[in-house]
Amino acid sequence: MAEWDGRRPWRTDAEIVARAQERLEHYGLSDVRGIPELTSKVSAATGKTITVEEVDDPVLVTTTALWIEFKDRSLILLRRHDPAYYRARGLFHEFGHIVFGHPACTALTNDPQMSRYAAGGGEVRGRVLISEANLPALYRNDVHESEAEAVASLIGRRLLRPRYEGDEEVFG
Ligand SMILES: [Zn+2]
Repeated sequence: MAEWDGRRPWRTDAEIVARAQERLEHYGLSDVRGIPELTSKVSAATGKTITVEEVDDPVLVTTTALWIEFKDRSLILLRRHDPAYYRARGLFHEFGHIVFGHPACTALTNDPQMSRYAAGGGEVRGRVLISEANLPALYRNDVHESEAEAVASLIGRRLLRPRYEGDEEVFG
């Protein structure tokens, strides 16, 4: 593993953003109007049911959101007590991992604390560990996290805004 150079492990440089945009267009996700439509389109793209579960579990204390992939379904865990926009951002990030088809995180899959969620052949795949202490360990996931972040940011730009452009005018 390379020495951590002190930078954030995810870069959203132009090339990564372009690939994220290409993924969104490929799956018809660039013009979604809300989270239900987004979720059903991601589900149609993968052919798997997507369940989003909001949990209150110390196992997620440093994990904003988690994607657990099963043979026939995808499970996304969010933290119940996070603010709504933060949960939305975590969801978009996990969708980013899904549309890129990122591989499993073996360490988390084998973590006994995850067994309750991964039981029945689940693999822990997306992950967001946002804490300075965790950054070095994430270095090797740099590109995957960058890609997921780029997707999340593009979806967020699309969905986390007023329903009508004109609504913004009141702020002058
Ligand atoms: Zn991630």
